[in-house]
Amino acid sequence: MKFAAVIVAAGTGSRAGGAPKQWRLLKGRAIARWSVDTFKAMGAEPVVVVVGEGQRDEAERWLGDAGVVLVAGGATRTASVRSGLAAVGTVEAVLIHDAARPLVTQAHVETLLAALEDADGALPALPVADTLKRETQAGVATVDREGLWRAQTPQAFRLPPLRDAYARWPDEAPATDDAAVLEAAGGRVSLVPGDPLLMKITHPEDFAMVERLAEVTRVTRVGQGFDAHRFGPGDGVWLCGIKIAHPLTLIGHSDADAGLHALTDAILGAIGAGDIGDHFPPTDPQWKGASSDRFLRHAAELVRRRGGRITGVDVTLVCEQPKIKPHREAMRARLAELLDLPLEGVSVKATTTEGMGFTGRSEGLAAQAIATVDLPG
Ligand code: MG
Repeated sequence: MKFAAVIVAAGTGSRAGGAPKQWRLLKGRAIARWSVDTFKAMGAEPVVVVVGEGQRDEAERWLGDAGVVLVAGGATRTASVRSGLAAVGTVEAVLIHDAARPLVTQAHVETLLAALEDADGALPALPVADTLKRETQAGVATVDREGLWRAQTPQAFRLPPLRDAYARWPDEAPATDDAAVLEAAGGRVSLVPGDPLLMKITHPEDFAMVERLAEVTRVTRVGQGFDAHRFGPGDGVWLCGIKIAHPLTLIGHSDADAGLHALTDAILGAIGAGDIGDHFPPTDPQWKGASSDRFLRHAAELVRRRGGRITGVDVTLVCEQPKIKPHREAMRARLAELLDLPLEGVSVKATTTEGMGFTGRSEGLAAQAIATVDLPG
């Protein structure tokens, strides 16, 4: 299903205190960026972010490289959603979401889109667990909570009925969520199970709670890489970022550091970001003789931009020569430095193929690597 997303990030954050909460950082990533990244990963196009007056610079700073459409918000949430909907173009469905609920996962999105099979709108909702009281001048009374739900976002809609409903909704009437607009127009709204992870950051103390909840949404992904380069006459080989003096060299377009190439591919593999040749085409003259450090740094930067963290790498070098063992600790230290990892998270190993095959005949050297990456779910 072709779907777009509208993220309302126009709040001033007065209740949460300080700067607008959508631009505060949660584990190094702006709050608004969390849902942008989730929707992008799910294929939402476009992702429209509605920003408040005077917040354009903050939005550019944190979302500038995210491929989103920024639009200006209105005086109310309802007006902001109208601006966002005007920018989504032609899609079958749209998700409307509050930026202050950063922990939306791909599973939430899948459930909501699936619910649109037989509804015009779907929203996550939690049953009310606490007993409800109403206090009036006449005193305190207990409210029957039967059939009451707490509505969360994202809310998913088929676009045409939602557009019709908004066209009929009075300009000045506030709606606290978008399902209310569809309900008023007689649209079919379906509830899907809500999730405490979809909590909204409202009060200052909510930041501490969302920090803790952010941990449970993390996933570990693993990538592997392999590379080989041929030996030729020379004065040394680059391996895992270290130059080893040797009567041969490794031949390649860049510095031919097979260890770093395999490791770069492993990291790219863990985040599904293609391979080293996609990012640094060997046909591009600017990478001729390039130090492979930059390939590895680039892959690590892509992980960081996704809100991820490399947690461990393991490289195996396969060759008869040069001898790796005397350089192994220097290689580990160099990789740890390049990836900003503690030494215990970095492993370099070496083996031979006992004289068999191209590595056994010292025609070339091979390397394989595995990387583990901790990512937002
Ligand atoms: Mg290579």
